[in-house]
Order: sequence, then C-alpha cells, then structure tokens
Amino acid sequence: MERDPIKATIPLTFFEPREIPTYATDEPARDSFGRRIDYLRVSLTDRCNMRCVYCMPAVGMQFAPRPELLTNDELLLVIQAAAAAGFRKLRLTGGEPTLRQDIVELIAAMKAVPGIEHVAMTTNALRLRRLAGPLKEAGLDRVNVSIDSLDPVKFRQMTRGGNLDEVWAGIQAADEAGLHPIKLNAVIVRGMNDDEVVQLAALTTRHPWEFRFIEVMPLTGVAGLAEEGVISTAELIARIEAHFGALTPYGQDPADPARRYRIPGAPGKLGFISAVTDPFCATCNRMRLTADGRLHLCLLRDDEVDLRSAIRNGATVTEIEQIVRHAVQIKPWGHGLPEGVLPTVRGMSQLGG
Ligand code: SAM
Ligand code: SF4
Repeated sequence: MERDPIKATIPLTFFEPREIPTYATDEPARDSFGRRIDYLRVSLTDRCNMRCVYCMPAVGMQFAPRPELLTNDELLLVIQAAAAAGFRKLRLTGGEPTLRQDIVELIAAMKAVPGIEHVAMTTNALRLRRLAGPLKEAGLDRVNVSIDSLDPVKFRQMTRGGNLDEVWAGIQAADEAGLHPIKLNAVIVRGMNDDEVVQLAALTTRHPWEFRFIEVMPLTGVAGLAEEGVISTAELIARIEAHFGALTPYGQDPADPARRYRIPGAPGKLGFISAVTDPFCATCNRMRLTADGRLHLCLLRDDEVDLRSAIRNGATVTEIEQIVRHAVQIKPWGHGLPEGVLPTVRGMSQLGG
C-alpha cells in the first residue's frame, strides 16, 4: 500500500482490520500500539452555566434530551466495567459536571468501585463554594478549575456571563477543603487574554498551584476561532521568560500532557498543553465517555463506540467490559490535524476536554 509521509509515522497495524479478542479479566487494557489506557474522562452532562467562546458557539447549541443521557445506575455500570478492564483514574467533566444532580452521591459511588483509585474533576467552579467540602468528603481527590482571565469584565466576555468572584470563592473553598493539588486551566486566545499570560503565570509565585496554559483546539463550533487564535507554547514560554527569566523544567509525568516548568523560586508550577503544535499522542493513556453513553476514542477524532445501546439491551458488566476492551483495542494512534482531518461530530462541551 502506498503511504503518504504523515500516515507513514503511524504504525501499519493502524490500517489493518482486527478481530475482537477475548480477554482474561486481570489483563491490563492496552491498545494496539501498546499504550496502557487506564484513565477515563467522564462527561456527566453536555449542559453548562457558562458559554465560553472557545468551547461553545454563540448561537445554535443543542443539548441532548435528558432520556439520552446515562442515568446514575448506567454510569456506575460503565465505571465497573471500565475498572474491570484496567481503568484506574476517572476525571469528571462536562459541560459543567457540578450541574449533575446528586453529584456528591455519584462521586461517592464511583470512588467505591473496586479498582478505581483516583477521582478528579474539571470544573468552572461557579458551584464549588457550596460543593467543595461535600465533594471532598464523598471521595473526590482534586480539582482543575478553568479561569481564563483575572479581569472580571474580560472574564465575563470570554465566558459569556461568568462571575469571576464566584470562581475565586470556589477556588478558595476547594483549597480549604483539601482538594489538592489545585490546578488552574486557561485557554489562551490571541487578542482576548494573551495580554494576561504574565499575570496568570505570576499566580504560581504566590500559591502552590499548577497553572496550565492550553492551546485552543479546533473542535466543532469553534474551529474558526482556533485557526486565528492558537498561540504556541513556544510563544507563551518566550513571553513568560521575558518577564521572569529562564523557566526551570519540572519533573515530567509521562501520563500528563502538560510540559511542566517552574518560575525560579516559585512555590507553584506552570504547565503547557499543546495538543495542536506539540501533540502527545505517543503517551496517550485516556479515553472519554460522553454523557450519552459513547466511548470517544480520541479527543480530536470522531471515532466512537456505543455503550448505551448495549446497556439498555440488558448487557452485563462483563459484557460491557468486553466492549470497553474492544474500544481500547481500536483506539486510533492520534489525531489527524496534520492531514487536515478535523473532528466534526461533537463540540468540546460534549467531550469534556
Ligand atoms: N466546564 C468545565 C470547565 O470549564 O472546566 C469542564 C468542561 S470544559 C469542556 C474542560 C476543559 O476544556 C476546560 O479547561 C476548558 O477550558 C477546555 N476547553 C474548552 N474548549 C476548548 C478548546 N476549544 N480548546 C482547548 N481547550 C478547551
Ligand atoms: Fe462550560 Fe467549561 Fe465549556 Fe466553559 S469550557 S462553556 S465552563 S463546559
């Protein structure tokens, strides 16, 4: 088969059809490239109490009707099956995960599933002031909070209505509740918040937080913004170093997509997540579960495996585990952005980042 230069970097097995193998239950979930896939990002809802410009289009958002979403019992069935297939870490996301009814009880039940070792959440923090304590008590290990600007007016514009004071109150509540280490995320969009990169990085000189700068990804509904707005990690680092001096590389975790640094002497860390300009597919350890019950195999591709139909047809945990393992087997190597292949089916608010 004639292979073009970009596809030639992908192992040949990527193009071969596969049988569904049978598994011993104690086998770890490895994909066909040998990557151990043990991290499931679980979208609890596609709804949100903000409308961030890089996440949702201004108009035309359609949300899944409630009967299409997995119920709590169905979600727990999937988590049990995923744990049996070797998944160890969960991250709850959305949409906004704290909008999910019974979120506290749901987290307690997920954390109690044998095999699940770590449960984290990515949230906009608008509801954390009240929820941080109960979530910690229920077994939540830590949170990532999205905060794109330190200027209340700009924050409101970028999130189309978000209240920065509430976010700070949520971060403080998370800190007091012990949801450590706290990580803060900002998506940097040229012409919107790129002038605040130095101030955002400076938070790590005052707090032991990790501040993560995320490149805009071209998901459905915001692809145009991504084209104009991507600021590479190299450019961000250059701006930060121009102010603070050379950054010190900080112990890299191979399972973490962020390249980590420290401002010399700072108690916190900086992280740079560059899915577009510096992809981390080779160390990918994750899959996503959409709120409507599909395993989404790669954030920036459309490939999915339906679990909800099997569940609603009465599949057992063991049968769902087999489907999860099959999904891991057919996980694509990586995204197709270099070939111009963009995801077309779901937006970020349906996938959870
Ligand atoms: N609502 C929660 C929040 O905002 O933290 C969780 C869901 S949100 C989709 C998860 C993460 O995706 C957030 O950190 C958000 O900043 C990021 N995100 C959303 N759209 C993005 C895009 N187009 N490119 C890169 N990151 C994006
Ligand atoms: Fe909502 Fe999070 Fe998307 Fe912002 S990034 S619109 S808070 S889901």
